[in-house]
Amino acid sequence: MASEKAHTESVRAKEMNKYLFEKARKLYPGRCRGFDDEWENIVKESKKSGWKHKGRTLENVIPLLKPAIEKQIAYRESSKEWCPQWKHFATWINGGWWTEEIPQTNKPKPRRCRICDRTDVRSSVDGKGWLCWRPECKTEYAKL
Ligand SMILES: [Zn+2]
Repeated sequence: MASEKAHTESVRAKEMNKYLFEKARKLYPGRCRGFDDEWENIVKESKKSGWKHKGRTLENVIPLLKPAIEKQIAYRESSKEWCPQWKHFATWINGGWWTEEIPQTNKPKPRRCRICDRTDVRSSVDGKGWLCWRPECKTEYAKL
């Protein structure tokens, strides 16, 4: 019985994630592919070690997407600064742009450690991104 209940709850949680994700996808002003493609992308992204390391899961990230988009739309509407085009939705998600308070201005995004997100980075490998000096990050980075 208990496991059946747990199963029902996990199905319900997944449905909720999809529902919230679709709301964010529809709101996003940049280029979006269909639901299935975008969903597949975020599920794939969620399995990468970077997410795990930051304690990110679909359950705790998806509810943040729509508010982040709303904030970024509002920022663009009120800003006198030049703003570049919206990125493709998948790029916006995979690049962690939903964590930026003031997004996509003409100021460059701060360099962040691929593993821990801190900005005191010191080296990068092409295609792997930036790395800080912390030994635990070095270990994770080597596995990428
Ligand atoms: Zn780090």
